Amino acid sequence: MTTTAERTSTGILVTGGAGFVGSTYVRTLLRTASADHTVTVLDKLTYAGSLANLASVHDDPRLSFVRGDICDAGLVDRLMAGQDQVVHFAAESHVDRSITDGGAFARTNVLGTQTLLDAAVRHRVGTFVHVSTDEVYGSIAEGASDEDRLLAPSSAYSAAKAGSDLLALAHHRTHGLDVRITRCSNNYGPHQFPEKIIPLFITRLLGGRPVPLYGEGLNRRDWLHVEDHCLGIELVRTRGRAGRVYNIGGGVELTNRELTARLLAACGAGWDRVDYVADRKGHDFRYCVDWTRARDELGYRPRHDFERGLAATVAWYRDNRAWWEPLKARCHA
Ligand code: NAD
Repeated sequence: MTTTAERTSTGILVTGGAGFVGSTYVRTLLRTASADHTVTVLDKLTYAGSLANLASVHDDPRLSFVRGDICDAGLVDRLMAGQDQVVHFAAESHVDRSITDGGAFARTNVLGTQTLLDAAVRHRVGTFVHVSTDEVYGSIAEGASDEDRLLAPSSAYSAAKAGSDLLALAHHRTHGLDVRITRCSNNYGPHQFPEKIIPLFITRLLGGRPVPLYGEGLNRRDWLHVEDHCLGIELVRTRGRAGRVYNIGGGVELTNRELTARLLAACGAGWDRVDYVADRKGHDFRYCVDWTRARDELGYRPRHDFERGLAATVAWYRDNRAWWEPLKARCHA
């Protein structure tokens, strides 16, 4: 890994590339992209980012890492010069934190995205993939949200993401910037920060501790392996259309109780390890996306079987305590 970007052909700026999804994308991209691609990661390394997530590609000469803030207009402007494409992951991403500190979410997710979009327009960047979430549609009791559904976010996290989606689309309409948006359901897999439900529960169970289940555990989520999310993003980057939104889903819909049962079984623990805690404020009951567009236009289809993917994820956390134990200390999870 070098510290300055020496672009030869296709230069891709990846924001938030030291986080869970962004680092999975960078590792995958460097495995599959041709030698003439360069990847510049811009990441602030907040509590959620870690260079350990990029350790396996650290020595790749196509990769440059810059520690910095997407809200830093001067830095963003310098880095954007000469880039051909942007894949934008950087965000404050944990709903629970957004309930107590919404300001950080508005700043990074809205102002940071605006800063990147403005620089992308100035430097005539070709394609800007904005990675968003199914949470912008809000909770739906039944059926699935297609891309035309009215946005109805519930938390400061999803509201800030919805704001960034609208800014991205506005830069397409106003400036003709080739913006493409992905909205994905809940991800699981290795390298996820241990405050999110799956790694939180696994790491607590492996440590012999109880796990906190919100309310009665009946809220429903659609789960997708992080590599399938990255596959969808890559299809959008390479085959998607400008100004278009693509839902990415197709995993498995489970209540949090059903998910907990699987994690308890995988970790050899019983229900006596579950603490029922007061429900999250404004807790969305259910998300579900209709990903027909990504399937029909891009040939997207998730590849990972959920049961095998979850078992492999539990095994990864069992084998990689050195990765998560320092992070647990950092977030008191
Ligand atoms: P994460 O919290 O694991 O990683 C976020 C990364 O962004 C970290 O490396 C952090 O250091 C960096 N970052 C935060 N603020 C920054 C700033 N101001 N400047 C530069 N870097 C900054 O999040 P994640 O789960 O990997 O999510 C990545 C993206 O994918 C987010 O935009 C999120 O909305 C979206 N997404 C995630 C999921 C999921 O289930 N994880 C699902 C759908 C969409």
